[in-house]
Amino acid sequence: MATLRDRLGAVEAEGSANRRGSAGVEVVLLSDPATPAPLCPHGPTLLFVKVSQGKEETRRFYACSACRDRKDCDFFQWEDEKLSGARLAAREAHNRRCQPPLSRTQCVERYLKFIELPLSQRKFCQRCQQLLLPGDWEEHQEHQVKGDISITQLKRPSRLLSPLENKKTNAQYLFADRSCQFLVGLLSNLGFRRVLCVGTPRLHELIRLKASGDKNSHIKSLLLDIDFRYSQFYMEDSFCHYNMFNHHFFDGKAALDVCRTFLQEDKGEGVIMVTDPPFGGLVEPLAVTFKKLIAMWKKDNSHEELPIFWIFPYFFESRICQFFPSFHMLDYQVDYDNHALYKHGKTGRKQSPVRIFTNIPPNKIVLPVEEGYRFCPLCQRYVSLENQHCEHCNSCTSKDGRKWNHCFLCKKCVKPSWIHCSTCNHCALPEHSCEGPKDGCFICGELDHKRSTCPDISTPKKVNKAVRKQKQRKSNKMKMETTKGQPVNHTSVKKKKKRRERVRQNLCS
Ligand code: SAH
Ligand code: ZN
Ligand code: ZN
Ligand code: ZN
Ligand code: ZN
Repeated sequence: MATLRDRLGAVEAEGSANRRGSAGVEVVLLSDPATPAPLCPHGPTLLFVKVSQGKEETRRFYACSACRDRKDCDFFQWEDEKLSGARLAAREAHNRRCQPPLSRTQCVERYLKFIELPLSQRKFCQRCQQLLLPGDWEEHQEHQVKGDISITQLKRPSRLLSPLENKKTNAQYLFADRSCQFLVGLLSNLGFRRVLCVGTPRLHELIRLKASGDKNSHIKSLLLDIDFRYSQFYMEDSFCHYNMFNHHFFDGKAALDVCRTFLQEDKGEGVIMVTDPPFGGLVEPLAVTFKKLIAMWKKDNSHEELPIFWIFPYFFESRICQFFPSFHMLDYQVDYDNHALYKHGKTGRKQSPVRIFTNIPPNKIVLPVEEGYRFCPLCQRYVSLENQHCEHCNSCTSKDGRKWNHCFLCKKCVKPSWIHCSTCNHCALPEHSCEGPKDGCFICGELDHKRSTCPDISTPKKVNKAVRKQKQRKSNKMKMETTKGQPVNHTSVKKKKKRRERVRQNLCS
């Protein structure tokens, strides 16, 4: 799956889907498959196809929808592969073994017991990331255990649990308080009464915290997330263990019913879906999932759309709008707690590239003036401080929060660091090499951002294999191992030098 900001493995798919011709893997989404996809511990797998030199290889294969690291889920099966009864049975047993040890109901029972305990007996094991009942203490006595867990702490599990940021499968980037407060305020100002939180545990808990503290706010929230640890803190009607890359409810029909009931309550009025998927996630399967959630909500024959906030980096704009043409990108910069780079304004090193995509008319979405956002009457939307209205483009054109300049030759606004190159016939970084390949992001290979703003920057070693291969071919220098998921260690000095150069260039853009 995807992790926020770990745009690898399966993202090979995305990168190459955007730019055919490079080697990579693409996801194949069949609307009406002849045979159902085989199951891994994370639900139905996805069908992939290898693409090299712009050509699809004929043999397709199934792999995990959620995990892009084989260490997390090593499912692999050729599309045309026939498995023996014994292997199928072994797989089923494996899938069962991988499920959480406790059922959803057992978790709820434990939680109810836990809150009855006196403060001094409420313990949380930090190693196992688990609330302990007195019967569990012995088993965890060697572990680091936190005591005196207050009700306030129980209401903020995202602060108690350590974010799963190292795991490719589940990197969690939690909203900074500023952004989370802004979102809750916005949802409330827009009049929503129910929020379906898909992969937004911190937003979920803040909504509930406000609802319990403030008599005027009655917003309800339901969290769908693959992080099973959250099931310790919520009743069945406020958390479902869910995979957003294949719309799989781990607890079957009961959980699906919880979600459907939640969406359809009040005839579907007053509900919004807010999602902050791992940025490495493939846009297509996410879009398919969101359409299923929309269908679950939808009243017959209506053209109304389920209001959605999809939080994702700005460079996915065209991709998202391709699947959801009614979506607009807002200028608001979403900040994260555990992502030093993406702190707001000058506190972090860079401005956050993460934005909100929505089908709510932008003129209804008021961005905080005290943070410099202003209303542009021509564009009818709030824009960031330095995003100036260009009279030639007739729009506030900046995407990254900096002031962009209009180029009359390109007939559009371009990043401030770019100049027009008469050889290439378009604007580019002054240091670009003219006839050379377009300089995409060195880390993930996307063309529309640089390494310095890549969501993956915190995990620089995990370079997307496809991109690595492609860059390699370009430099045409040496052979390297391409073992899946493994960082490349044996980089030649020459290559290192080249890379440093490229990184420097990108950082200066
Ligand atoms: N900013 C959000 C967290 C976003 S991090 C907040 O503060 O609330 C991405 C979230 O998506 C994590 O909670 C992670 O557990 C969840 N996630 C990752 N892969 C998922 C999947 N396949 N299905 C459902 N949720 C997933
Ligand atoms: Zn899996
Ligand atoms: Zn404007
Ligand atoms: Zn312009
Ligand atoms: Zn130009």
